[in-house]
Amino acid sequence: MGVTAVQNRIGGERSRASDGATFERRNPADHREVVSTAPESTEQDVAAAVEAAQKALPRWAATGPSERAVLLERAAVVLEQRADELARALVAEEGKPFKDARNETVRTPGNLRLYAGEALRLNGETFASDDPGATVATAVGPVGVVGVITPWNFPLTLASRKIAPALAAGNTVVFKPSPLTPLMGDVLADIFDEAGLPPGVLNVVHGFAAGAHLVGNDSVGAVTFTGSTATGAKIRSVIGLGRRLQMELGGKNPVVVLEDADLDAAAAVVAQSSFSLTGQACTGAGRILVDDAVHDGLLERVVALAGKHVLGPGMREDVTMGPLVEEAARDTMIAAVEQAVTAGATVACGGEPPQGDAVEHGWFFPPTVLADVTPDMEIAREEVFGPIIGFERVQGLDDALQRANASRYGLTASICTTSLAAAQRFCAEMEAGMVKVNRPTIGAAPNAPFGGIKHSGTETHKEQLGHTVMDFYTRYRTVVVGI
Ligand code: NAD
Repeated sequence: MGVTAVQNRIGGERSRASDGATFERRNPADHREVVSTAPESTEQDVAAAVEAAQKALPRWAATGPSERAVLLERAAVVLEQRADELARALVAEEGKPFKDARNETVRTPGNLRLYAGEALRLNGETFASDDPGATVATAVGPVGVVGVITPWNFPLTLASRKIAPALAAGNTVVFKPSPLTPLMGDVLADIFDEAGLPPGVLNVVHGFAAGAHLVGNDSVGAVTFTGSTATGAKIRSVIGLGRRLQMELGGKNPVVVLEDADLDAAAAVVAQSSFSLTGQACTGAGRILVDDAVHDGLLERVVALAGKHVLGPGMREDVTMGPLVEEAARDTMIAAVEQAVTAGATVACGGEPPQGDAVEHGWFFPPTVLADVTPDMEIAREEVFGPIIGFERVQGLDDALQRANASRYGLTASICTTSLAAAQRFCAEMEAGMVKVNRPTIGAAPNAPFGGIKHSGTETHKEQLGHTVMDFYTRYRTVVVGI
């Protein structure tokens, strides 16, 4: 693949940063290869994009729901037609294996369709009125200009879950993709262009500082953000009265394995939760809370599954685990293992960068299982966003629940058990936006609400996926009409 020179999209025009600055993105499986370059947008560039979105707003807000639904449906078709080609570009830019990349390009159209349907279902209510001459009703409309800020780990899927509902409700958008996946951001804009979205309805600005510029622009009525808890905290401090904010943040997601669990099935749940996408899924598990009675049996099985992973460039058919997204992420893994070992953890497998021709020029790190982890250790408390898990011994469900809930995060959690009573209690008492039984922590039903609680989001659980997100993108007013 050659180098793609990505540009901003402002009011239907492609443009460079006003001061000409650019940055480059390299293939994380082979950092000698530059995949894309993109503009490092200035505050003025971002302001121009917001202005373009404001200008396009009245016309787009006045379109009928059918027109908006048809457009989203058309975009879904365009994306489907390009699924293979885009999956290859996604492998080069983000690093995930082709099968996972294709899974993303094939699933994203479903999000566009889901919200095409929601455009048609936008409605208000009428209320019984004490005033016999008056009708009391809610009127629904868009919020205005929506700022969409996304991470790199699912650059198409996560952006589509925000852009599609925003457009479905009649908002216009300024989209700021991750600087680690500018090409995928550009691709999404291309798809909407090809589907016939009018100029200015979806604008795209790139860069490391562009997110802060977007958040700082008071003409952006709503900001929807997915990314780390640290960035989320910064954004929250900037958004003042009269502006909306929705956030999906990090997690330290636990898998609890009780004594009565089917151990082979539980090991598969743990391995899938922890090592899929090189551990770079927000819903991935980092803490394995295992009943003492089955601890050693589970550890042995998970280590065996970890050993089956083949690391290498994502286009190779036998590869099941791609690289970490960048050098700093690989260095974070090395430091996390060192710190855990110093604190008393032991390395059951992995723990240091692999050797060999296939991985020589990439940011690879193997599936790593740490044993003897205790709740006070950093590795038990903070997200590492990579394929490292810590096994902690627990004594039964009470202990497991207490430990699992003693976390500032609350994104996903899973329990492996054959006891219906234990499963029910876990579902009732586990403080997480998504709780699962005998299923991996990763993966979300596309049509059901999902979102983090505590420091993993904005505490509503319903702000990503499902029909409930439409509340964020719509403004309701109560209207009383007398005669
Ligand atoms: P990040 O917070 O570093 O960056 C996310 C986005 O925010 C990027 O586009 C970045 O450029 C932008 N940004 C950075 N500083 C900003 C600022 N001050 N103001 C506005 N925008 C700013 O996160 P990341 O490394 O891209 O993604 C990994 C993180 O995302 C992990 O913590 C992961 O758990 C989380 N994540 C959460 C979910 C979820 O649904 N809860 C899904 C995917 C990823």
